Amino acid sequence: MDRVYNFSAGPAVLPEEVLREAQEEMMNYRGCGMSVMEMSHRSKMFDEIIDEAEADLRTLLQIPDDYAVLFMQGGATLQFAQIPMNLMKNRVADYIVTGTWAKKAWQEAAIFGQANKIASSEDKMFSYIPDCSDLPVSPDADYVYICENNTIYGTKYHTLPNTKGKILVSDVSSCFLSEPIDVTKYGIVYGGVQKNIGPAGLVVSIIRKDLITDDVLEGTPTYMKFKTHADNRSMYNTPNCYAIYICGKVFKWLLATGGLAKRKEINEQKAAILYDYLDSSKMFTGTVEKKDRSLMNVPFVTGDKDLDAKFIKEATDAGFVNLKGHRSVGGMRASIYNAMPVEGVQKLTEFMKHFEEVNG
Ligand SMILES: *Cc1c(COP(=O)(O)O)cnc(C)c1O
Repeated sequence: MDRVYNFSAGPAVLPEEVLREAQEEMMNYRGCGMSVMEMSHRSKMFDEIIDEAEADLRTLLQIPDDYAVLFMQGGATLQFAQIPMNLMKNRVADYIVTGTWAKKAWQEAAIFGQANKIASSEDKMFSYIPDCSDLPVSPDADYVYICENNTIYGTKYHTLPNTKGKILVSDVSSCFLSEPIDVTKYGIVYGGVQKNIGPAGLVVSIIRKDLITDDVLEGTPTYMKFKTHADNRSMYNTPNCYAIYICGKVFKWLLATGGLAKRKEINEQKAAILYDYLDSSKMFTGTVEKKDRSLMNVPFVTGDKDLDAKFIKEATDAGFVNLKGHRSVGGMRASIYNAMPVEGVQKLTEFMKHFEEVNG
């Protein structure tokens, strides 16, 4: 069966090499006579899988030793609660609201304390990143929170906010491993893996070790304490073993294809193909401010709902799938994560050009 070009925002395309390897190992993982899905998480075999995954991620992101890497469950959404439970010592935190996910995180934090919205781009449908060079950061804020790449709206922070010395917490779900980052700039940098790395349900959180303590909000369940997961190498209970295994393969794929500097180059090349066309097109327009464009999620519209629908239908028939924009924005969105080949973006752009010629 032919594979399609899958522009889904998540769960999203994975590298074919990784899927093939997993297929080969499905019935019998490296001679042990069983699938990774059937294996004890206390086995030597799985120990190697999780250790290698962590080691490879550390290499990719050059994670310093004073940061822990935790593989946890509940996706990115559970972190919206887990972060305040572990970090909100003064019960005050500052949130920069640049889209749906940041807003959800901000609303969740308000359950636990005073969650201040210190900046927002909601006034213009989240189509830009506000100037974060001199924000009214609260003197007693336990942290400043951002969503670094806004999956739904297609914006990205190209400069991190000035947190005035406060801990920065960042949700990088949809730009995870798309380019190198400086981990030391963050207190916590985390992401749900189903956008750019692996199967849904797993979150990888990279946390500065001094933030992992027993000093959590009163009533915090054992399972919600970062320390529980850190003390047990992410295996306090049965982890999402299969997702960790696939993520490990994706980390190896990234290392084997040149690491994150090379990945950034490829991602910039792909994004440029699509954005250059959008900027020249008389039919399609990008919906966000150019300076804040995401390399991963590219929303665009024709300005005519019927024409959008016609485009999505014809594109789907031609093998370019999941291009429908999020229900809150409408129009189209092409998510062009790491595993989307350059060729996929080229072919989509050619298809768009052709559609414009015929329907323009
Ligand atoms: C998809 C997404 C989430 C939610 O992830 P879940 O794993 O479904 O909880 C959170 N933040 C961002 C930026 C996302 O793209």
